[in-house]
Amino acid sequence: MKKFAMIGAAGYIAPRHMQAIKATGNNLVAALDINDSVGIIDSHFPNAHFFTEFERFDRHLDKLRRANSNDKVDYVSICSPNYLHDSHMRFALRTGADAICEKPLVLNPWNIDGLKEIEKDTGHKINTILQLRVHPAIIALREKVQNSKKDTKHEVDLTYITSRGHWYLQSWKGDLKKSGGIATNIGVHFFDMLHFIFGDLQENIVHLSDDTKAAGYLEYENARVRWFLSVDFDDVPEAQKEAGQRTFRSITVDGEEIEFSGGFTDLHTISYQEILAGRGFGLDENRTAIATVSHIRNAPIAPLTGDYHPKLK
Ligand code: NAD
Repeated sequence: MKKFAMIGAAGYIAPRHMQAIKATGNNLVAALDINDSVGIIDSHFPNAHFFTEFERFDRHLDKLRRANSNDKVDYVSICSPNYLHDSHMRFALRTGADAICEKPLVLNPWNIDGLKEIEKDTGHKINTILQLRVHPAIIALREKVQNSKKDTKHEVDLTYITSRGHWYLQSWKGDLKKSGGIATNIGVHFFDMLHFIFGDLQENIVHLSDDTKAAGYLEYENARVRWFLSVDFDDVPEAQKEAGQRTFRSITVDGEEIEFSGGFTDLHTISYQEILAGRGFGLDENRTAIATVSHIRNAPIAPLTGDYHPKLK
């Protein structure tokens, strides 16, 4: 049984990690959050130690490490805001554990270089949650694309509208410096998925980028992609609004809809199973998606010529 510690235990995604730790037969021994609304811990690991101060958490993990090699924490799960990930990963490795870090791993590709050095210095590994890579429908699509190489590139339209209330822009998620903005915070899943399915990124043009929406054109080895992302309810198509939905997701490849709404719930557990089996996605697997979102954040806005998403018309 492996021992886990967790950073960011009071947040939205933390229970998914607690479930994954439990479902894989392991134990959460310590958790940190600056917010103490963590009653959720009792549903999974009532014996876990909890800290609201980093220094006390650090002292506790250090005590476990020095007391007895059987007590030492094996993994630190990182569920904190995006801009804190690299610091929290460094802490995990220096404390003698491997890290399991939420997406986006970091905000900029050069942050990955520093983390590679820490991996080398400590001999510990950074694993990330790239859950769409373990989704059965995405794996099937990747195999189909790889087995049907053709002369022309696939034409892909990606539209993802996931409405958020007013809280979003008031929280760290609406702060560009902390979350990286919507293309980074929400889009990184899809940009990694596109790279995973369609190969190396060749072109990255941005047509729209503001607090609540972003859009652009990406070209991969095997695909030309027009993408649109939004957290604005007004962008949800009327049919979905009338059906009471606040989310709309569509990915078409050569005009054919890719259905992957099902099978989302336990992707964290599958990710943990893979990591524990030594098949976790590491720093290098993240580089393309992180470079993609970093470029989108800093690129000039291009005029609407050539290929652009139909929502921008
Ligand atoms: P959240 O704001 O609900 O939770 C973040 C938690 O971190 C909060 O409880 C906050 O108090 C805590 N925190 C902030 N600063 C801290 C610090 N210095 N030390 C310790 N704890 C600190 O956010 P969330 O939605 O749970 O997102 C957390 C991470 O998970 C983000 O990186 C996000 O991108 C990622 N995420 C991933 C998915 C996915 O599907 N894989 C979904 C949602 C969020």
